[in-house]
Amino acid sequence: MKITIWGCRGSMPSPGPDKLFFGGNTSCVQIEHNSTCLILDGGSGIIRLGRNLPNNIKKVNILLTHLHLDHIMGLGYFSPLYDPNCQVNIWGPSGSLESFISKLMRYFSPPLFPVRLKELPADIQINEIENTTFKIDDFNIISEYICHPGPTVGYRCEIDDFIVSYMPDHELLLGSSNFPLSAEWCSGYNIAKDADLLFHDAQYDKKEYARRIGWGHSSINDAIVFGNLANVKKMVLFHHDPTKSDEQLETMFNENVQNENLDFEVVMAKENDIFFI
Ligand SMILES: [Zn+2]
Ligand SMILES: [Zn+2]
Repeated sequence: MKITIWGCRGSMPSPGPDKLFFGGNTSCVQIEHNSTCLILDGGSGIIRLGRNLPNNIKKVNILLTHLHLDHIMGLGYFSPLYDPNCQVNIWGPSGSLESFISKLMRYFSPPLFPVRLKELPADIQINEIENTTFKIDDFNIISEYICHPGPTVGYRCEIDDFIVSYMPDHELLLGSSNFPLSAEWCSGYNIAKDADLLFHDAQYDKKEYARRIGWGHSSINDAIVFGNLANVKKMVLFHHDPTKSDEQLETMFNENVQNENLDFEVVMAKENDIFFI
């Protein structure tokens, strides 16, 4: 299985000469296995993914965690949606007041975007999910609501004995009253448990988080505690703050991770990084 990061920035794209190392595109991770292509979120990173897809791939599966703009803003420019021979399956969380498809149609409509969802040439299937288990080819996918403003799910992608978990936007401390004491009450635990690779929100350091409680994101410190609790093998710290330069992200990692005595591997997400499991 090959996993590629096409975007790992949070909140909004942030290009610039001081952000070239970690990259400025927003959330998008691709999982490839045999002929199956899973795409986690449609942030600005999905645009370059679309341009790099081999011509023979005519079916792609997009798993959206939620509809905050940084996770869908690249969809309108995703080239397979304009290919009449391509099948694009999209999954996303339902909400209590408005359906997932109706919310997605708001993005694909003037004046926000010139092309309506129904006008796109591809064969598009929209699937609304909750706490759901479903199959995509040989993958077993589990979605579960996690703590973040608005309906938001995390995804667990299982194949053979391998597990990749993805929770780019997740506020651990508000997810349960006694984090991290009881795993079964911890938001996202079922999604992350025993994962080979966990992508997790680590937007802030401890001091920054104290001033941003309720914004929907986690500190790097809480993320690591969660990785330990969930017994993951490798953790990828994700959803970098848009204001942070490469140097600031390196410093945050060095100050909060390097001297910790951890029995699992922790790395900073970096655009274009590829993992094989
Ligand atoms: Zn986000
Ligand atoms: Zn969000």
